[in-house]
Amino acid sequence: MIFTQIFDMVDIGLVVLDADLKVTHWNRWMELRSEIPAEKIVGGPLFDFFPNLNNPKFIRSCKSVLNFGNFSFFSQKLHLYLFPFNPVSSFKSKFQHMQQYCTMGPLRDENNAIKNLYISVQDVSELVQYEQKLIEMNMKDGLTGAYNRRFLDVKLKEEFNRHRRYSRPLSLIMFDIDHFKKVNDTHGHQCGDHILKAVASKIASSIRNTDFLVRYGGEEFCCVLPETAFEAAALLAERFRASVADTEFVVKESTLRITISLGVSGLDKENSTPELLIKKADESLYEAKKTGRNKVVAHGISA
Ligand code: GH3
Ligand code: MG
Ligand code: MG
Repeated sequence: MIFTQIFDMVDIGLVVLDADLKVTHWNRWMELRSEIPAEKIVGGPLFDFFPNLNNPKFIRSCKSVLNFGNFSFFSQKLHLYLFPFNPVSSFKSKFQHMQQYCTMGPLRDENNAIKNLYISVQDVSELVQYEQKLIEMNMKDGLTGAYNRRFLDVKLKEEFNRHRRYSRPLSLIMFDIDHFKKVNDTHGHQCGDHILKAVASKIASSIRNTDFLVRYGGEEFCCVLPETAFEAAALLAERFRASVADTEFVVKESTLRITISLGVSGLDKENSTPELLIKKADESLYEAKKTGRNKVVAHGISA
């Protein structure tokens, strides 16, 4: 009696199956999340209601529990969920399905024989969402949504190693907004922030999924372009330049035009380093500033 109450009150899904994988117990938590009452599912095969579980991996896990008394763990990281439930509405979930951590284990009778197995289901959606948010906050700049320097250091090393191992091209564009101090001084810091965000989103939306945009400093960005040869990067930089120069940025009631200066570098010599890639792009950017702004300077390291 007490155990029945606990079974229905715990904040976790509990299911018991017999050796034919028919449901013998289905607790209140499972009823609420699945919208399937116990009287409807108990007595029949679990797969009647959850055909997605009728797969070799799940069946193998059940057999291993029933035959050998093993435990099985279904991690959210690998499987996302076992039971395709809707996320609970008490928090704004970005997942289509409730994220679950599930355990499966043996249940023994008085003679120590395994006649049943249990599955416990834990809703970890909120936890996973916070975790992903933290990971993102650690990688991204809060204002512009571009990646931060920490991410750049890690990713650039990775991409550089790939470049060395497979001799794939790797290029980088460094750019900085021209006379940005004047934008702040004339229109205010908030307007400056708005322009920064708009420029970042313009560039971010025009690059490939495998490229990444990093906020390198205040109004200086860099764009890492794996699998991109130096010449192609130089052409892309020119496209960035033209697209920013051709845009009318809307601030409050007025429109504003700004320009950017860009430096491009490419790696294709074995003894180059990620630091050198940045240094070369930075030097070229400096040269673009010195020689007129609103322009691209591209000196390949060995191209
Ligand atoms: P240059 O063409 O030589 O790059 O001139 P500049 O005025 O853009 O360069 P400078 O380095 O003199 O000034 C950069 C300005 O960028 C000054 C700083 O206040 C502004 N800035 C840096 N970060 C932010 C930010 O997050 N928001 C705003 N609104 N302004 C920023
Ligand atoms: Mg500037
Ligand atoms: Mg600057």
